Amino acid sequence: MASKEVAIIGAGAGGTSAAYFLKQYAAEAGTSVKITIFDRNPYIGGRSTTVDAWDNPAEPVELGASIFVQVNKNLVDAAKHFDLSTDGMSKGKTASSGPQLGIWNGEEFVITTSANSDWWNMAKILYRYGWAPIKTNRLMKEVVGRFLKMYEAPNFPWSSLSDILSELGLIKATGVTGEQYLKEKGVSDLFAREIIQASTRVNYAQNLPLIHGVETMVCMATDGAMSIEGGNWQIFDCMAHSASNDIQLDTNVTTLRKLPDEGYEVHWTRSGDTLDMTPSRKRYDSVVFAAPYQFSNIHLDVSVFKIPDRVSYVELHVTLFASPHALSPAAFGLKPSEAVPQIILTTLQPDEKPGANPHYDAKAGFFSISTLREAQNPNTNPPRTEYIYKIFSPKPAQSDFIAQILGLDPHNIKDEISKDHVTWIHRKVWNSYPYEYPRVTFEELRLDRNLWYTSGIEGFISTMETSSLMGMNIARLIVDEWLKEKTLAEETTRALDSLVQQKPLKAKL
Ligand SMILES: Cc1cc2nc3c(=O)[nH]c(=O)nc-3n(C[C@H](O)[C@H](O)[C@H](O)COP(=O)(O)OP(=O)(O)OC[C@H]3O[C@@H](n4cnc5c(N)ncnc54)[C@H](O)[C@@H]3O)c2cc1C
Repeated sequence: MASKEVAIIGAGAGGTSAAYFLKQYAAEAGTSVKITIFDRNPYIGGRSTTVDAWDNPAEPVELGASIFVQVNKNLVDAAKHFDLSTDGMSKGKTASSGPQLGIWNGEEFVITTSANSDWWNMAKILYRYGWAPIKTNRLMKEVVGRFLKMYEAPNFPWSSLSDILSELGLIKATGVTGEQYLKEKGVSDLFAREIIQASTRVNYAQNLPLIHGVETMVCMATDGAMSIEGGNWQIFDCMAHSASNDIQLDTNVTTLRKLPDEGYEVHWTRSGDTLDMTPSRKRYDSVVFAAPYQFSNIHLDVSVFKIPDRVSYVELHVTLFASPHALSPAAFGLKPSEAVPQIILTTLQPDEKPGANPHYDAKAGFFSISTLREAQNPNTNPPRTEYIYKIFSPKPAQSDFIAQILGLDPHNIKDEISKDHVTWIHRKVWNSYPYEYPRVTFEELRLDRNLWYTSGIEGFISTMETSSLMGMNIARLIVDEWLKEKTLAEETTRALDSLVQQKPLKAKL
C-alpha cells in the first residue's frame, strides 16, 4: 500500500495522541504513514501549558490543565513510557500544620480538613455528612468503571460517541444534571452542595444544577492525583516528536478543501506572513481536526462537510502570582491566630439558587484560591522564599481583591499592587471547557469520509485524558480502514491475477 499522508490540526492532548497512536497502529499494520502536525501556538500542549514564575525556567507553573489521576490510562502509560516524573504536585510543598483544604461559601468555611490527620478528617466528614461520602464514592466507581470500558474491545474503537455512551449505560447520567443525579441516587443535599459542588466549581466552573451527572462524578474521581514535574505539556511534546518530524508551530490552518480523489488540501499561513501572501497548501489523504471548531477560524465548506455544532464554553480567568505574604486570616473571617487553608474551594449558600444560569454571580465571588508552593524569588538579594498562588474566577481577579486576600489595604491600590507585595503576576482568560449541560447525543467524530474531529468528546468529559482517548480512538478507526482497503486491494489483485492466468488455458481450448 502506498504511504499515507495525514495532517493533524492542533498539538494539544487530542492531536498529539492521535499522532502518537496513528504512528504506532500503522507500524503494527505494516503501513507507512507520514504525519504533519500544525498548531497556531508557538508551543505544543494547547490548553496544557506552563508559564515561568519571575520568568525563571526553574519555576514553571501550570496555566491550564494541571492534574490527572491514576485511572487516566493514556497519560499514566505515556508518562511511564517517556520516563517523565509524576511528582509535580509535591515540589515546593511545605508541611503545614494548618488546614490543607477549606470550602468557603462567601461568609464562612463550611468545612476544613488538615493534611496530617486522616482519621480526624474522616471523623469530621462522617459526623457532618453521614454516609454520603461513601455512597458517592461507590457511585463514582460505577461511572468510572463504565467509562473505562471505552478503552477495551469489543467497545473500542467506537465510531459514534452517542452510541457507545448509550451502550455503556452512561447516557442516563449525562442526560440529567448533577443535582438530579445525586438526588435520584440518594446522596444528601448537604454533601452535594458543600463538597461535590465545590469540586464541580473548581474543576469546571459550574454549579450542580447545570453540569451533567457523568462530569459531576468525574470531579469526584481524585484517587492518585498527579502532574508531570516541569509541566504536563511534556507528555504531548514527547508524543508529537515520537510520531512526527514535521511539526509546524506558529502555523495557522485557514481552510480545508476537499479534492475529487477523497483527499484534502490544507491551507495555512505562518505568523509573520503578510495579508497579501498566498497561503501555503498541501494535499493529505486524511485530516484529524483536533481543536474546538468554533475557535479555530478554519473555513469548511458547509455543502461538503458535516459542521460541528457551536457549544458554549466557560470563560475562565486564571491569575497566577507570587508574594512574600501569606493569605490573610481576616479576609476569610478567621482569627489572626488561625491559618488559612492552602486550597480554598467555594460553594453556594443554602439560599443561593443559580438554576442552570452559567453566569450566576455567587456570593463566594471566585472558584478557588490555591497556595501552590513556596519558591525562591531570584530577583531579591539574597533570594527570598515566597508563595506562588493560583486563582480561578469568573471575572478578572482585580488588584484590590488580591490586596485584600493578602491582608493589604485594598483602598491604597491604584492599578497594580506594588512589586514589593506581588513580585510576579500572570493573567490569562481561557475558553477552558464547555458548559456541560445535560445531553444524550454528542458530536459526530467523522465530518467527512477522511476528515475526523476530536473535540466533540468535550461535551461528555473535558480532560486531557478524554481528548487523548478520542485521539487514540480516531487513530484506530483510520488504520482499520486502511487495513480494509489493503485487504480489498489484495483480493482484487489476486482475482485479476487468476483471471490473467486463466487466459492461455482458454486460448488453448
Ligand atoms: C485553566 C484550565 C484548567 C484545566 N484543568 C484540567 C485538569 O486539571 N485536568 C485535565 O485533565 N484537564 C483540565 N483542563 C481541560 C484540558 O486542558 C482540556 O480538556 C484538554 O487539554 C483539551 O485538549 P485538546 O487537544 O482537545 O484541545 P487543546 O488543548 O485546546 O488543543 C487544540 C490546539 O489546536 C490549536 N488550533 C486551534 N485552531 C487552530 C488553527 N486554525 N490552526 C492551527 N492550530 C489550531 C490550538 O492552538 C491548540 O493548541 C483544564 C483546562 C483549563 C483551560
